[in-house]
Amino acid sequence: MRLILLGPPGAGKGTQAQRLVEKHGIPQLSTGDMLRAAVAAQTPVGVKAKAVMDAGELVSDAIVNAIVAERIDQPDCANGFILDGYPRTLPQADAVGAMLDERGLSLNTVIELVVDDKALVGRILKRAEQAKAAGQAVRKDDNAEVFDERLREYYKKTAPLIGYYYAKGLLQTVDGMAEMDKVTASIAALLAKAGAKM
Ligand code: AMP
Repeated sequence: MRLILLGPPGAGKGTQAQRLVEKHGIPQLSTGDMLRAAVAAQTPVGVKAKAVMDAGELVSDAIVNAIVAERIDQPDCANGFILDGYPRTLPQADAVGAMLDERGLSLNTVIELVVDDKALVGRILKRAEQAKAAGQAVRKDDNAEVFDERLREYYKKTAPLIGYYYAKGLLQTVDGMAEMDKVTASIAALLAKAGAKM
């Protein structure tokens, strides 16, 4: 099973992806997590990506496509994966389509978490507070100023993917404003309906 979780920053993609990992034993491929690991390890990709990420802008398609292409060939992806935060642009969507085609694979579904923009910044600030309280590092882009840019990037570059996947008959939507467990249940129901063997 290969699926994409789509939605703006703070929509709950990461949380829902983790729940799907637990339930179905397939990995969560978060390009944000992979890029943050590259930044922390100061790899050439990380060094290039850092300033762009700190500003809330998108890293180049070439960089993220290369990261994902390498990742999906790892053995733990053999039974499928959950793409979280990727693709984020139309060229990335084309690229992942081509990657899967080349491997004789396809996407099962794209699930959009539909949320109210006004709630998002509050969720992001809460995430920053919780990380701080837990003694964890707070993401440099989890603050109100950078969040505005992240949301603009979402509308400019990522929201067009909703139409792209709708036209392909792959898009399904879930109310991302519902309580977390309810969102999880709605996703499970969609996957069951899609006849997914998960
Ligand atoms: P996230 O953890 O998904 O919120 O991503 C954090 C940051 O990583 C984003 O604001 C971008 O700078 C970068 N990033 C993550 N995924 C992508 C992607 N698919 N394309 C471009 N940039 C990305």
